[in-house]
Amino acid sequence: MIIVMKKTATDDEIKTIIAEIKDNDLKPMPLYGTERTVIAVIGDERILDKQHIKSMPGVSDAMLVLPPYKLVSRETKFEDTIVTVKDGIKIGGKEIQIMAGPCAVENYEFVSQAAKACKKSGAKILRGGAFKPRTGPYSFQGLGEEGLKILQQVGKEENMATVTEVLNPKDIELVAQYTDILQVGARNMQNFNLLEELGKVDKPVLLKRGMSAKIKEWLLAAEYIMSNGNPNVIMCERGIRTFEQEIRSTLALTSVPIIKKLSHLPIIVDPSHSAGKPYLIPPMAKAAIACGADGIIVEVHPKPEEALCDGQQALLPDIFDTMMQEIKPIAKVLGRVL
Ligand code: PEP
Ligand code: MN
Repeated sequence: MIIVMKKTATDDEIKTIIAEIKDNDLKPMPLYGTERTVIAVIGDERILDKQHIKSMPGVSDAMLVLPPYKLVSRETKFEDTIVTVKDGIKIGGKEIQIMAGPCAVENYEFVSQAAKACKKSGAKILRGGAFKPRTGPYSFQGLGEEGLKILQQVGKEENMATVTEVLNPKDIELVAQYTDILQVGARNMQNFNLLEELGKVDKPVLLKRGMSAKIKEWLLAAEYIMSNGNPNVIMCERGIRTFEQEIRSTLALTSVPIIKKLSHLPIIVDPSHSAGKPYLIPPMAKAAIACGADGIIVEVHPKPEEALCDGQQALLPDIFDTMMQEIKPIAKVLGRVL
């Protein structure tokens, strides 16, 4: 159930509703919007007497949310969620955000060179994996904490926010110490234990779509994070498995307007892991922005031929720069800025 408070509802009235929910052994989850405050009720909502709730001071309405995902649903919150990453870096608002950098943190030099170039071209968020989810156990698995340190250091030097993947619930605390956004990779989208633990963190979570996940399953994965207390979830479409072998994954851009319709959460697109080849990445990035994505996460490497992971799809800095210049007018036509 969601309880919609009147615009004029006082703090005390909101507190009374929260106490009422708790008295019924249910969990209240207030969602404060600029237009209205909504209190979502987690648990067996049938326990609550809807008519009684509706009659309480400050309450405008109480209603059941039909989709199985409740907190992430547009029915629960009309307004777009804008995730604040750091001062001046928001995802889901007017500004398009670009996350760029190498697939993996390999050494200080490569990350620093990539970051300098990406920053110069307009990216505000630096990506780089320290824990890599590799298909085979003999491939480079990432530098672990040393990689996190390099990413954090370069982020500070270039005044960029950072995003990096966390693979394991036991590493969340460590990764959260070093980075601004915690990434859940496609392979972990239904690692429910990881999602629950990320719900207890006060940093934004970038939730990639599983390569075989339906949109509903992806939204339910986001619900796991939100229902555990973390409202700062950013969805990321990265392509799904189909019969097509010409590309790494099929970039399902329809999910951008679908997520926008079904949910209030921001959504970005990863053209690198979907296209898998540099020449396909700029067109897909432009298409992503054109269809309403709030940003892009893309792999950029100063020396792709020396990369230890995903070098075959890394953009060279000058190609990335051209892509950024081409995205700008598209963003502008849509009333957005980059
Ligand atoms: C990545 O971003 O480096 C990555 C491994 O992506 P995905 O989880 O989408 O495959
Ligand atoms: Mn990669």
